[in-house]
Amino acid sequence: DDAFDEQCDYLFKAVLIGDSGVGKTNLISRFAKDEFRLDSKPTIGVEFAYRNIKVIDKLIKTQIWDTAGQERFRAITSSYYRGALGAMLVYDITKRATFVNVRKWLRELREFGGDDMVVVLVGNKSDLAQSREVEKEEGKGYAETERLCFMETSALQNQNVEEAFLEMITKIHDIIS
Ligand code: GDP
Repeated sequence: DDAFDEQCDYLFKAVLIGDSGVGKTNLISRFAKDEFRLDSKPTIGVEFAYRNIKVIDKLIKTQIWDTAGQERFRAITSSYYRGALGAMLVYDITKRATFVNVRKWLRELREFGGDDMVVVLVGNKSDLAQSREVEKEEGKGYAETERLCFMETSALQNQNVEEAFLEMITKIHDIIS
């Protein structure tokens, strides 16, 4: 809102990356608007959402970028990453291939992103535990090796979504303040 904008102490850019279909758009809409959509989106191009939060005594506006389908064409450009202080690297716990591809996404992040970018590895769709193909310990272990934060989330059930974004935003705040 306007009153917040005037008093805002920081503006952070954060990006979401990961394979198509892992739930990036729904994670963003949960965090920014508390909405979930079952249908898939038709648009292609970069889109973003905002969420204002307070960390200690600072008012932070976070601008969260969504690939909005570009990843299907391997067409994410360096401008997508430019200036981003945080990234959420998302895979789907029910699709092993999306976890295998995390390495590729991390390489791209490290090539185009800033050196001290805060990266949170997110295993989404934790509500589908009966179809799980990636164990939580495996995701956690990989995150530790690569020095990433880690969280399993469900955008559908609104589990850990707030926590995952807040962890990223708080860490960014710690780094820049
Ligand atoms: P994106 O391509 O990474 O942006 O993924 P979307 O947000 O468009 O989601 C892809 C599909 O997965 C949609 O059908 C969503 O409804 C579904 N989805 C997203 N998050 C979850 C979740 O946490 N649990 C379940 N069961 N489905 C989800």
